[in-house]
Amino acid sequence: MRIWIGVFVLLAVQGAGLAAPRVTMVPDAPRPGEVIFVTLEPEQDLLRAACSWNGRSYRFQFRGEDGRYPLALPVSASTKPGEHRATVYWKYANGEMGKETIAVQVRPRDFGVQRLRLSSSQAKKYSSPDTKREKKLIWAALDRVTPERLWRGSFAMPVEGRISTPFGIERHVNGKFSYRHRGVDIAAPEGTPVRAAADGIVALADDSFLLHGQTIVLDHGQGVESLYLHLSRIEVSAGERVARGQVIGRVGQTGVATGPHLHFAVYAYHEAVDPFFWMDLPFH
Ligand SMILES: [Zn+2]
Repeated sequence: MRIWIGVFVLLAVQGAGLAAPRVTMVPDAPRPGEVIFVTLEPEQDLLRAACSWNGRSYRFQFRGEDGRYPLALPVSASTKPGEHRATVYWKYANGEMGKETIAVQVRPRDFGVQRLRLSSSQAKKYSSPDTKREKKLIWAALDRVTPERLWRGSFAMPVEGRISTPFGIERHVNGKFSYRHRGVDIAAPEGTPVRAAADGIVALADDSFLLHGQTIVLDHGQGVESLYLHLSRIEVSAGERVARGQVIGRVGQTGVATGPHLHFAVYAYHEAVDPFFWMDLPFH
């Protein structure tokens, strides 16, 4: 009798339930500042799905032609090494729901410290009320989430030059911790062409900023954006489509800068991630 009940229960569960979507994560052991590419492969269309990670919830908003749902999940530079948990929640169109928790090992990474001296007039620019406006405009551009994925494969270096400040380094200005460097600084002569790192749409092109200097933000789709600061010239306008490698502006030292260089940054869902990670993506 017991055996029959057991078999019946098993059949009932199998008959009623849709299988959990297959979840894949690449890379499976990321470092702080990298991105985990999560893919959901469900049996049927999902009504909605989300991933809770590092204190935030990220929605799966796009469905590829292959029926998979992709998500570029940022591992912020300040993530502590060790075991973290990502929980994926889903709801099928027929109302069935489920969740799966996946352990993610974050590897250790030391970004180092950089000490800077700024003159009092340069330091003042940081607290000028004008910088609130430019920060707001840049954040709004980085907030865009375009459903279409415009980038294909690894990003290109936007300019040839020497890396003067790497990504993630802690900046101490005039002896005090100020902020973590959210991009990479590439030193190059004024006027050197700056190229789009990947295909995208110009989300912001503004030559009026006091702190960031002449600024471009490119929207690469699915929550991924790239940022170019301190330009001497902007050669694109907002809304324009650009191709990987296309000249979008020129290296300069506008805004607060100690010499001609490009500050180049990549953001995933508003989180600054290592641009070099994007130049050698862990898949093809
Ligand atoms: Zn910089």
